[in-house]
Amino acid sequence: PINIPTTMRASILRKQGDIALEQVGVPPLDDDQVLVQVAAVGVCGSDVHYYEHGRIGDYVVDHPLVLGHELSGRIVAVGATVDPARIGERVAVEPQRPCRVCDQCRQGRYNLCPDIEFYATPPIDGAFTEYVAIQADFAFPIPDNVSDEAAALIEPLSVGIWACQRAKIGPGSRVLIAGAGPIGIIAAQTARAFGATEIHITDISPDRLAFALQHGATHALDARTDSVAGLDVDAFIDASGAPQAVRSGIKAVGPAGRVILVGLGADDVELPVSYIQNREIWLSGVFRYANTWPLAIQLVADGKVDLDVLVTAHFGLSEAEAALQAGKEPGQLKAVVHPGR
Ligand code: NAD
Ligand code: ZN
Repeated sequence: PINIPTTMRASILRKQGDIALEQVGVPPLDDDQVLVQVAAVGVCGSDVHYYEHGRIGDYVVDHPLVLGHELSGRIVAVGATVDPARIGERVAVEPQRPCRVCDQCRQGRYNLCPDIEFYATPPIDGAFTEYVAIQADFAFPIPDNVSDEAAALIEPLSVGIWACQRAKIGPGSRVLIAGAGPIGIIAAQTARAFGATEIHITDISPDRLAFALQHGATHALDARTDSVAGLDVDAFIDASGAPQAVRSGIKAVGPAGRVILVGLGADDVELPVSYIQNREIWLSGVFRYANTWPLAIQLVADGKVDLDVLVTAHFGLSEAEAALQAGKEPGQLKAVVHPGR
């Protein structure tokens, strides 16, 4: 048996701009949960936003909060109804807890469950800590050839998969993606894995565009100078949140094409309504994902998606603040925190 302490170190966001290491209790397990010793946690833009602004929309950090929702680790204990043989498994964690009984959950759209709980979203703690509890069926075993870092980034890969599924990307699809950050690059790799043959990506950073061309995209366009008008793609995925990119991207979509809005930017954006009507374009938002972990793990294990290339910096748990600021440096894509270090 693995020795489990009663307390652990956690990086606590006490309030906006104030994050520090504290000693806290190891979370208790419900019967259907497992305890995961956290190996790697990716830093996401939303973590940075909570740190810098103390809120995202209606979600306000009015109690101390543990950030981090992109994580992998090892199962070290199981609840009463979970097979003890799972102790020792390396897992990628799907960091949410739907109610399982409401209409949305029963339709399989559990990401839209009105009672969903999500890591690092007030008041639910996240993974910048040594141990987390998660329902056993939301801890997915990962093969040996998938690194701890890649297993943590199964979470953003899930966003890319959900976007590409909603965009109905398949063999021969022609796609436009706005934004060559981690999500845009992952969406490009996923689109390629789904069989897309033309993957245009836009950004305002030449570095990011060059990186995207090496790791998923087939064409790169500088949004400051190049136009996407007339591309006539089958699908447009916005991973920038920039209103201008959303408007120009929609006008790059051909008849019966799909527009998928992933990026969080302005709450309200003016849309080219008659363009959308005349071509019967489908438009959908994306709210995280549902049922994506098995496919995501398969794509990484098979080498169809490379998540390790996205990792540009590593930090220990005591360096969470530096990890949250790392993304601002040029050339940085994804910082990873290692709570065991
Ligand atoms: P990021 O900030 O690293 O990437 C955004 C990229 O867009 C940057 O590289 C930026 O230079 C680029 N950009 C800015 N203006 C642009 C323009 N006019 N045209 C083209 N590109 C432009 O963020 P990320 O981690 O890659 O995430 C992308 C977006 O997806 C963020 O807004 C994030 O909040 C959102 N997101 C949404 C969900 C969801 O469930 N809907 C989940 C995860 C992330
Ligand atoms: Zn529900």
